Amino acid sequence: MARIGFVGLGNMGGPMAANLVKAGHRVIGYDMVAAAREAAAAKGVAIAVSAADAARGTEAVITMLPSGQIVRAIYEEPGGILQSTAPGTLFVECSTIDVASARAAHELAHAAGMDSVDAPVSGGVGGAVAATLTFMAGGSQAAFARAQPILAAMGKKIVHCGDAGAGQAAKICNNMILGISMIAVSEAFALADRLGLSRQALFDVASTASGQCWSLTSYCPVPGPVPVSPANNGYKPGFAAALMLKDLRLSQEAARETGAATELGEHATRLYEKFAASGHEGEDFSAIFRAIAAGGVQ
Ligand code: NAD
Repeated sequence: MARIGFVGLGNMGGPMAANLVKAGHRVIGYDMVAAAREAAAAKGVAIAVSAADAARGTEAVITMLPSGQIVRAIYEEPGGILQSTAPGTLFVECSTIDVASARAAHELAHAAGMDSVDAPVSGGVGGAVAATLTFMAGGSQAAFARAQPILAAMGKKIVHCGDAGAGQAAKICNNMILGISMIAVSEAFALADRLGLSRQALFDVASTASGQCWSLTSYCPVPGPVPVSPANNGYKPGFAAALMLKDLRLSQEAARETGAATELGEHATRLYEKFAASGHEGEDFSAIFRAIAAGGVQ
């Protein structure tokens, strides 16, 4: 069993660190917020006084942080996590961030003689608690092989997507599909309502026909057809509209940098910007159906 440093013990990182403890690892964690540190300590995570202190003497360091800017700052900090560990330590960056920052973190780690993997996740807080996350990993085959048994304690599916940054690229592309498809499904239900077609009838047809997709069959934005979808629970997240917007913005940043044509991705980003700005950022992202059905996102 390994000694693992864990920086960022929030909604995702807290339960992920707890699952590493459950799997028998010795986990030393740090978060800047006291409540997050206390919640992790209650689950058996040893608490350090800084990120560098959490990383010191470990075989692997995991980061689960809000943004690329914060990840870069933690990796670049003089006397920080890359300097408090021995060369050869494995760095696993699990936050959802821009591809450029993910690659910068790899470069910083390699320059310090470390192994590194970017490994963003899907599956949300529920998946983090249940250890059923999907990890999308980028990095060398050797680094991925080292990360795999650690990730297996926190998730059920681990995909090696390619070299440095490939995990983030996969995450951003997947979530762009998700944002666009949720709007498409919501528009179809709004149109069905106006045509007098029952929601159940549309679901019964589209869920087994060419319109089927995850946003419809697993996360249906109207109450009824999929009992576990947030639509049946007052649109409580789930996956908050603010996080959907974050991921869509990352997709558009990547599209601008690479010259990729993502017109629907751009339009979905604008719709989620308006939706979040009108007081819905804390609702589940599927709540956009209500705005569309009421005449459009204002
Ligand atoms: P969160 O805000 O709950 O947790 C982030 C934690 O990082 C916070 O506790 C914060 O105090 C800590 N932090 C920030 N700056 C720090 C610093 N400099 N030093 C130490 N700690 C610091 O967010 P979350 O929901 O846990 O998400 C974490 C990452 O996972 C994000 O990149 C998010 O996009 C991604 N993600 C979230 C979900 C989800 O459903 N919540 C799903 C998939 C991916």
